[in-house]
Amino acid sequence: MNYNKKSIEDIDVSGKRVLCRCDFNVPTKNGKITSDKRIVAAMPTIEYLVNHGAKVILCSHMGKPKGEWKPELSLKVVAERISELLGKEVIMAADVAGADSQAKAAALKDGDVMMLENTRFMKGETKNDPELSKALASLADIFVNDAFGTAHRAHSSTAGVADYLPAVSGFLVNKEVSIMGKALANPERPFVAILGGAKVSDKLNVINNLLEKVDTLIIGGGMAYTFLAAKGYSIGSSLLDSEKIDYCKEMMAKAEAKGVKLLLPIDTVVADSFPDPIDGDIAVETVAADAIPDGKMGLDIGEKTRALFADAAKSAKTVVWNGPMGVFENPTLAKGTIAVAQALADSEAVTIVGGGDSAAACEQLGFADKITHISTGGGASLEFLEGLELPGIACLQDK
Ligand code: AMP
Repeated sequence: MNYNKKSIEDIDVSGKRVLCRCDFNVPTKNGKITSDKRIVAAMPTIEYLVNHGAKVILCSHMGKPKGEWKPELSLKVVAERISELLGKEVIMAADVAGADSQAKAAALKDGDVMMLENTRFMKGETKNDPELSKALASLADIFVNDAFGTAHRAHSSTAGVADYLPAVSGFLVNKEVSIMGKALANPERPFVAILGGAKVSDKLNVINNLLEKVDTLIIGGGMAYTFLAAKGYSIGSSLLDSEKIDYCKEMMAKAEAKGVKLLLPIDTVVADSFPDPIDGDIAVETVAADAIPDGKMGLDIGEKTRALFADAAKSAKTVVWNGPMGVFENPTLAKGTIAVAQALADSEAVTIVGGGDSAAACEQLGFADKITHISTGGGASLEFLEGLELPGIACLQDK
């Protein structure tokens, strides 16, 4: 995939109708937005377009209306919040690309901003229906994709519309593509990837692809136990993807053949069972990774492993991290995940954290501003690491 894509700064937007796909999938409660983080993150792109005299037409999905018209998932609340942040009216359309949107888009003046309704109110959106893509395209002269979280989806508003309009990235997508793209295509070395999370089967292609690129691959979290089992260790009642033992053996052989260092836990924090409730009190002990007693369950990396992984991260020039090192929802079992987050925060390397749990851990610990890039898309960043072509990025014009 070509990561060198045009952004809004590479084209002339003044006087043009610009359809800008954002990620306004914000949490709401009783009709009120409970976190406006995603809206705030989109503001630099919106402000740039306004300040450069574009006629701005915003669109996004919110929640899962599944093609039904659900008033509680209207983007009106988002339009109101943007209006407060911008200090100017955001005109709300009553439909997605229907008669009301067409009329309002046609009446826009330079610097005006309007918002379409929730794109997933339309059944055609997630089917990438060409009719909907064409209708969306007919509103505008240029398409801007600034929603990385949905870039791995080929939907009408994320990719389909680009069949009919010149397409470029907004600032958020541009940052994701340039930083993660560079890390994968031309990383400063040593390049270390740290993978965690529950299951090996969720990250098969990520492991395979990263082994082609990294100098060191670190595996922690629930997925590490299947690797330990593949080494012939007994893993007690720890999480096991029994169908993936051969795959793990294959990956260990591939690492060796390629001269990639593969680091697995050398010690592990075990308990009698999975914590219930997940954040409840739990009695734990630390054992060597090759000596997990029968009936014990590995739930976090041990202290020696934390030091081993942290050293590898600190001596790297590029680090990518995706997935927690243990059951971090429980404070007793969060130490491994915190240690990795701390190591990335302390590292001089280019540090990239994949979306979801690891991103949340960095933010909760207050490390966000010490990380080079925290990806906004969980699924999208994983597909990126798999080396897949993301439809919402592939559709953008090359530089
Ligand atoms: P993922 O969605 O694949 O990133 O996995 C995240 C989940 O993996 C979190 O909810 C963790 O609690 C869970 N997890 C991490 N380590 C373990 C482990 N050793 N055993 C069971 N679950 C784990």
